[in-house]
Amino acid sequence: PIQFDFKDVSIQYPTEKKPAVRLAAFQIKPGTNIAIVGPSGSGKSTLMQAMLTFAPIQSGQLLVNGEELDKIAPDSLWRQLNVSLQHNHFFYGSIYENLRFANKEAGEEACQEALEKVQLSHFSLEDQVLEKGTNLSGGEKQRLALARLFLRDASVWLLDEPTSSLDAITEQEIMEEIEKATKYQTVVTIRHRLTGLEKMDQIIVMNHGEVVEQG
Ligand code: ADP
Ligand code: ADP
Repeated sequence: PIQFDFKDVSIQYPTEKKPAVRLAAFQIKPGTNIAIVGPSGSGKSTLMQAMLTFAPIQSGQLLVNGEELDKIAPDSLWRQLNVSLQHNHFFYGSIYENLRFANKEAGEEACQEALEKVQLSHFSLEDQVLEKGTNLSGGEKQRLALARLFLRDASVWLLDEPTSSLDAITEQEIMEEIEKATKYQTVVTIRHRLTGLEKMDQIIVMNHGEVVEQG
């Protein structure tokens, strides 16, 4: 289990005049299911990128189980994370290879099950994905990216608008599968639609780089 503690954290991109995110005190406790909402540009992605060591933290501390993030070997952190970012990356190669990228040990049966969870079972494991996934629709790319997550044993899931290219019903069905797979895991989801939020343990509302509501 991993706990994240933000303490007086200020994140500022070098090209910008003011911080993209400021967090006085903010905690992500193990096993919680958190939605982050707020207008475009309010700092949601930046907050998540910080947890992945990708954001320029200028001052303050981001602690991972009490230890400063920059003192932790990124590999040892990433191994415990399941991440879906807005730009999904694909190899060309078969669907099977794309899935096994997430977990080299994953067998055919597990991969097939993962495809079912994201409603891609009309694809076969041998089907080829073209370079950059150009033969997949936006929604299919997103679902294939999510299928990978079900093949990994991660304690924290960080999802940046994981279902933005899906219709509302598919979104709800896949979010339910994620829920089933993450009973004991931490899940942080940046959401653009405000439906289905009642199941969350916590909702964070961001505006102008700050958490303005939390509960
Ligand atoms: P959200 O995810 O809520 O849309 P972001 O975290 O992407 O918000 O952006 C927060 C602010 O930081 C915005 O003003 C955005 O323009 C700025 N920003 C995000 N990424 C970068 C970057 N790589 N370089 C400079 N500014 C950035
Ligand atoms: P959606 O309506 O979900 O956006 P599309 O209409 O883009 O889906 O794609 C429908 C089907 O056509 C998908 O199965 C996708 O794999 C296939 N497809 C999309 N683009 C191409 C392409 N350039 N070459 C071959 N097949 C494609």
